[in-house]
Amino acid sequence: MSTKLQPCPNYIGGEWNQPKGNFTPVYNPSTGDVIAECPAGGAEEVKASVEAAAAAFPAWRDTPAVERARVFFRFRQLVEQNFDKLCQTVSREHGKTHAEARGSVYRGLENIEYACGIPTLLMGDTLEDLARGVDCETHLQPLGVCAGITPFNFPVMVPLWMFPVAIACGNTFVLKPSEKVPLSAVLLGELLEQAGLPKGVFNIVHGGRECVDALLTHPKVRAISFVGSSPIAKYIYETGTRNGKRVQANGGAKNYIVVMPDAEMNKTVENLATAAFGCAGERCMAGSTALPVGKAAEKLLPSLIEAARAIKVGPTDRAAQPDMGPVITAQHRDRVMTLVASGEKEGAKVVCDGRGVKIADAPNGFYVGATIVDNVQNNMTLAREEVFGPVLNVMRMDNLDDAIAQANKSSFGNGASIFTNSGMAAREFKHRVKAGMIGINVGVPATMAMFPFTGWDDSFYGDLHIQGKESVQFYTQQKVVSTRWFSEGVADVWKK
Ligand code: NAD
Repeated sequence: MSTKLQPCPNYIGGEWNQPKGNFTPVYNPSTGDVIAECPAGGAEEVKASVEAAAAAFPAWRDTPAVERARVFFRFRQLVEQNFDKLCQTVSREHGKTHAEARGSVYRGLENIEYACGIPTLLMGDTLEDLARGVDCETHLQPLGVCAGITPFNFPVMVPLWMFPVAIACGNTFVLKPSEKVPLSAVLLGELLEQAGLPKGVFNIVHGGRECVDALLTHPKVRAISFVGSSPIAKYIYETGTRNGKRVQANGGAKNYIVVMPDAEMNKTVENLATAAFGCAGERCMAGSTALPVGKAAEKLLPSLIEAARAIKVGPTDRAAQPDMGPVITAQHRDRVMTLVASGEKEGAKVVCDGRGVKIADAPNGFYVGATIVDNVQNNMTLAREEVFGPVLNVMRMDNLDDAIAQANKSSFGNGASIFTNSGMAAREFKHRVKAGMIGINVGVPATMAMFPFTGWDDSFYGDLHIQGKESVQFYTQQKVVSTRWFSEGVADVWKK
């Protein structure tokens, strides 16, 4: 299927520019076709966008919070009106099923709704008579130019984690979307422009490493929000903070799901299959390792394998929808299969094999079927590395203590879940497991807009997380004002 290449412009100072220079291909992963070319970008474009954002900052900072919120009320409405178009773009450039794309755009929409509450969120504290005749109050003021660098796996949702609240706080913003999925970001920029945001407050620069480095070192960039893999998150945190910037950097993950023998098994199978194979496993909250405890393995595995085998894989860019779409690129598909093969070589057993899946009407798409690997051991690469594909490892555990100890061996700390009917087991688990987002009979305990996205360890570098009140703190600096008025020299009528 040949498709016309879609242009992928930068948005700088309120102008859409057709970039020149080098480009990288953007694929429709369902078919393997190149659908757009993303500018490789560079220092010049970043410089221009940061200057535009810096120039727009004073007027935007001085715009009352209620007026800034109104832009986001309009933006929210426009996102809702263009919901289908956004979801289709996500499906086309990323490969999510329509249902997954809709879910992810809704999660993004909730972040816009959160930003609409900015006048309340920015309210400070006051204390009358801190000392005799001295009153004290806090103000939250914006930082200036902030930047966001986003991954491929949620082309609408992750940018919406960042710029609505940052801009609503009074900052201006430069977004550097993933070069693999730049089209959704362009659509968001067009809608924000229609919502009436002044020129230069929001900018988009496409590109890769050169672009990121220019943002990390630009003296006028005050804060960087990053979401992506852990090695790059660490690099962003170290380089950004060394250059005097505030940084929040979300990294990768390896999330464990403990299944106790007393769990409601049908519901557990359903939730575990969704956690492991939803979005083709390409999410940082994917349940990538099941830890069945004791007899739970015998109860769980036959139905889980049956459920995985029933998952229909196929193209997501047409009306008839599969259960699961492709992964992002051919290279990524090959990496996923190589990791499974490495586990097999080291002694694990592939009990449901999605490698080599063939899709007749989309032979060049990037497909891997649902895969389950049993008897995975902690020393295997497959156990330790993030696979980011539809692969579920199974590590059998003797008891809850061992399961918690196994989960706590991970260098990551994003999510962890337990399926059980025992309140005591659940309490013990939530208290002792080393991860930021915990699910009790919830397979994907990803947080929504009003709660922070609280990864730990190699899943997060920084202090203040994305989303919720922490995001407001991240995008503002606090001022404490102490006030005293002297009675000397005032008119008699005011004297006591
Ligand atoms: P990635 O790290 O390859 O890329 C993320 C961003 O960094 C992109 O914009 C990319 O252009 C840029 N980048 C890539 N290499 C770079 C380099 N060497 N120097 C500077 N910038 C660079 O991640 P990805 O493959 O796009 O996304 C998948 C990863 O994101 C997974 O590890 C996943 O777990 C993680 N993720 C984490 C969360 C979370 O909240 N913890 C959410 C979504 C995705």
